[in-house]
Amino acid sequence: MTTATTERGAISHYRTYKPRPFTRAERDSVTILFGGLHWRVERILQAVLESGGNKAEILPVATKDDLLTGRETADIGQCCPTSFTTGNLVNFLKKEAKATSPEDVNNKFVYLTAGSCGACRFGQYHQSYELALRNSGLDAFRMFLLAQDQLDQKAAMGDGLDLNLPVTLGCLWAIFCTDLVQDLEYQVRPYEVVPGQTEAAVKESIELLYQAFRDRPRHGPSRSVLWFLSTGYFVRIMKRIRANFDGIEVDRLRVKPTVKITGEFYLQTVEGDPNYNIHRWLEAEGAEVYPAGITVWMDYLLRLGLQRFEDYAGIERGARLKLGLGRAVQAVYRATFHRLRRAMGDLPRELPHQLELRRLAAPYFHSRLDGGEGDMLVGKAIWAHQKKKAHMICELSPYSCMPNTMSVGAMAGVIGKYPDLLYAPLEIKGDAEVHALSRCQMILTEAKKRAQHEFDEALAASGLTLEQVRGYLDAHPEMKRATYRVPHLGCAGQAANLVRHVGQRAK
Ligand code: SF4
Repeated sequence: MTTATTERGAISHYRTYKPRPFTRAERDSVTILFGGLHWRVERILQAVLESGGNKAEILPVATKDDLLTGRETADIGQCCPTSFTTGNLVNFLKKEAKATSPEDVNNKFVYLTAGSCGACRFGQYHQSYELALRNSGLDAFRMFLLAQDQLDQKAAMGDGLDLNLPVTLGCLWAIFCTDLVQDLEYQVRPYEVVPGQTEAAVKESIELLYQAFRDRPRHGPSRSVLWFLSTGYFVRIMKRIRANFDGIEVDRLRVKPTVKITGEFYLQTVEGDPNYNIHRWLEAEGAEVYPAGITVWMDYLLRLGLQRFEDYAGIERGARLKLGLGRAVQAVYRATFHRLRRAMGDLPRELPHQLELRRLAAPYFHSRLDGGEGDMLVGKAIWAHQKKKAHMICELSPYSCMPNTMSVGAMAGVIGKYPDLLYAPLEIKGDAEVHALSRCQMILTEAKKRAQHEFDEALAASGLTLEQVRGYLDAHPEMKRATYRVPHLGCAGQAANLVRHVGQRAK
């Protein structure tokens, strides 16, 4: 650290955060803490870390208390997700330190989180953590940043963490699998006849995945790439998960509006206080939630990285080749997701194509502006509306988030072009829940009317009465199973699609 002396005293120059190393010898005594996603993927990431020889623990879901701690201990102007996550870590460590001692906590845990150097505050998260830990007397605590653009991170992390290629690929597959389970879960739960059955199937499925990821065969770096891409191991597990859902009886004739969740990455992914428990709240209000997949986000990051080569193709040597290779990687990524989806009977929703999202967003948001979800947020809203994937968009906009503020601004242009797009941008501050939810409720009321109207139209088009449709379903009980695939027949709601489908079959 360089210091200089001026008339105003000693100046400490900026120094980049550099934790004391976490060595291999410490692996048996040090636990890796991580969190900030939803419970399904966290549980499987824990399995991946454990199978790599690490001890791993998931932080509890952030609460309003964590938000307050984050605001108290880190910089005041930070965005809402930073406050939640820093406060969450600090409160966990403080509780542990109270039980033992700060020294013990510094030696017993390290924190692993995503790093970034994007346009938004994400690139400065580690400084907020650092400040918060310093203000809490835990400045010797170690945290490690996980780069989002590298597969093998062993060198960057040290031999204690050992985030090698097999572990990183495991994390990627964990995201594929849990996204698929989550998507199916949200399609089934609002229609389950016996409450709690979906929850039980999901828990069982996630534990199945946990064991599968822990017990998966081990290979060296290059063989593991081949293994992950070619193995039928995960396909078999996903088929078993589909079977877990098979026994759930559903009543898809409950007319519900479908609400697509968009917004900032953390807020749309987490399920808890940081987003006012919006997923459960929407379900309790009678909606079906279309959750935001982490796979979509990673696909966006790939697309974003490749755009640089697009810009330099024909200008920079090798850019065209790198673009071609990158496109091939992206195609493999998407094919892998679709392979696992097929194993679940194509029940979870497909991945939207990134180039289509970019094309849709282009008139409103420049595709080279990154930070947050960039143009993808706008593209997803138009895509869901145009393709009748949802009746309404609920965008979770974190307080004090620059990229999201830009998206909300761009969406004003979108609404001008598509006035019938139901759009609820909720500013999430952690402490203005009533205001945000009542705003959402107003738009949800309109979405409910749309869903009902769509359903009535489907009945009229099919020439059937509701009783006749019910009678048909009773005569074909396989159609009342959660694993029966109702085709998308141009309606955003499951009930309307089902009626049209029955209409076709009954002809
Ligand atoms: S996208 Fe917004 S909320 Fe998320 S880290 Fe960046 S500034 Fe914060």
